[in-house]
Amino acid sequence: MAPPVSKTQSLLFIPGPVNVPPPTLEAMTRPLIDHRGPEFKRMLERTSSRLRPLFGTRHDIMFLGASGTGGLEAAVWNLFGRGEKILACPVGVFGNRLVTIAKAIGCDVEIFETKWGRGVDHTALGERLRADTEFEIKGIFLTHNETSTGVQNEMHALSTAIGKHPALVVVDSVSGLGGSTFLMDDWGFDVVVAATQKVLAAPPGVSMVAVSDRAWEKMEKNHAPRFYFDLRRAREFAKIGQTPWTPPVSVMFALERALDLYERDGEKKVHQRLALYAHAIRNAAVAIGLRVFSTPPYHSNTVVAIHCPERVDASSVLQTTRDQGYVLSGGQQQLKGKIFRIGTMGDITRDNILSMLASFEDGLERQSYPVDLGAGVGAAREVFKHGLHAMAL
Ligand code: PLP
Repeated sequence: MAPPVSKTQSLLFIPGPVNVPPPTLEAMTRPLIDHRGPEFKRMLERTSSRLRPLFGTRHDIMFLGASGTGGLEAAVWNLFGRGEKILACPVGVFGNRLVTIAKAIGCDVEIFETKWGRGVDHTALGERLRADTEFEIKGIFLTHNETSTGVQNEMHALSTAIGKHPALVVVDSVSGLGGSTFLMDDWGFDVVVAATQKVLAAPPGVSMVAVSDRAWEKMEKNHAPRFYFDLRRAREFAKIGQTPWTPPVSVMFALERALDLYERDGEKKVHQRLALYAHAIRNAAVAIGLRVFSTPPYHSNTVVAIHCPERVDASSVLQTTRDQGYVLSGGQQQLKGKIFRIGTMGDITRDNILSMLASFEDGLERQSYPVDLGAGVGAAREVFKHGLHAMAL
């Protein structure tokens, strides 16, 4: 049985918020500064330019005092209005959230269906868009990384499929940004939304939004009502190094420190680490006799979703791991009780993963699931020893 991490502090293996490294947490304790003063201005400009490579954009990044959903709402409400046709491509709960937001302002939303566990079929998407000869579709919604199913879309292939279709493309990259290569400008995406509490491993509280030139043009023309999340206003204030409303200054301090750590490791290393962790956890699941929920080539780097075997009570397994200090997630909505979700983001080590897996095995065994104790841990260890090629799934 895996020993508890500590009586007071658990290790978060949920797919965000994540374990925040101590230096990032400490940054939150800095004395506050004037958010209308020169120091904040410099920090805002620095942070925007340091985030540009992660977004793959030359555009400024807007900072909203909100979780990721606030950024998604801002994207949709600033770009679109009543009656505009949207082609939404959900691959799980968060893709559906974008649909809900668009419907709330009266958009005419068509759902491009994808079986959960899979990513969007780029060939089929290309065909659907070619059939739109009158260019009735004004917006396309994509999810970079779908946290509810452990799926990562093939964003480059999707951008190629969209090609020259004039619809504006909104991408939810809340749990994707920073975890794999992302090239907003090259791939022709118009609004990309991220959040602090995922790959960057800062606390929640700030949503980061990048906007293309043509999206800004559309936003200027859009008369749909908005106030707090009016991105035009955010842009005006960004020009003077401010945000329209009082920003979560301490989260901005943490974000800056988180970027130090991200850059110290280097983008490529972070991508490789997440991919390795995810591969190790998937291999562990298979060695335990479980099925991974996502199908290749759509496996996510940042969250692994695993089928819960029949007759096993997922919540009891999760309670066991939680009692032992490892907090994992279950499924959401129709996947509740049907899957486990394990995040790879944040301040976690290989050893943390191995002990979490031991706890997970223990939780399954207590549910009378026949586990060859140590099989999952061993499989993950193999991956850590031999890299991504170990038992490729
Ligand atoms: N989109 C994705 C892909 C997410 O994973 C999440 C949160 O987990 C959200 C949107 C919503 O973000 P938040 O919970 O920060 O509002």
